[in-house]
Amino acid sequence: MRSLFFLRVLDFFFPLLCGICGREDFFSLKIGLCKRCTNAVRTSKPSARCNVCFSPLSDISVVCGFCDSRNIFFTKVYSLRDRNDLLGELLNKLKSNHEYPVSIFLSLGIRRTLRRLKTLDLDACILLPSYSKNKIFNPVMRPFSPNKRLYEESKRILGIPLIDPLIKTSPERQAGKSFSERFFHAYSAWEIKEKWKNRCPSRILLLDDVFTTGASVNEASRILKKNGTKSVYVLTYLRVSD
Ligand SMILES: [Zn+2]
Ligand SMILES: [Zn+2]
Repeated sequence: MRSLFFLRVLDFFFPLLCGICGREDFFSLKIGLCKRCTNAVRTSKPSARCNVCFSPLSDISVVCGFCDSRNIFFTKVYSLRDRNDLLGELLNKLKSNHEYPVSIFLSLGIRRTLRRLKTLDLDACILLPSYSKNKIFNPVMRPFSPNKRLYEESKRILGIPLIDPLIKTSPERQAGKSFSERFFHAYSAWEIKEKWKNRCPSRILLLDDVFTTGASVNEASRILKKNGTKSVYVLTYLRVSD
């Protein structure tokens, strides 16, 4: 926490270079990427989106095939951007080292989105645990949690606490798995902690870096709902849109 504050102070006094190419311009100072790279990561805006998972739709239906055909336990997904290759790379950059400019850029629009979520009267937020210990409280494993900013802004704007009712029971990770494998794997990935059994808050905001198949989020939502939660809203930096 202290080192992040210190880096912010440094950023205030020293120029902020583009998180991709390292150049400095008006854009990089403001949003963490230079003008050229900002244009390069831009994704096209679809005309319609699924009411539940927010994925782009090609016809006039209100819910996509995915959300229509499965038992969906989450209520609604909010993603700041559709993922493309460059944005995916940016997110990996954010995961592998402390990339302050990148975190600024990926978080653009988060305050506006969170202010919209104020009306939902959320009770708490959670991060999907990917290790047995929570990343935020375990800075040794990873210097910078990509979801840290999601959590910090949620706490600040919505005034809700971070809770960790789930524990990871499987050491496997979702990355590198096929679509169907993800669903099978997600089914046994977590358990509810004893103290949260049947005592989960009513309205939860689930924070994650990227919404891919929705398998993890859906399984986490299922467990939370089994234990007292009424609605699970999801907020991610990116969503996979194809
Ligand atoms: Zn650049
Ligand atoms: Zn959908």
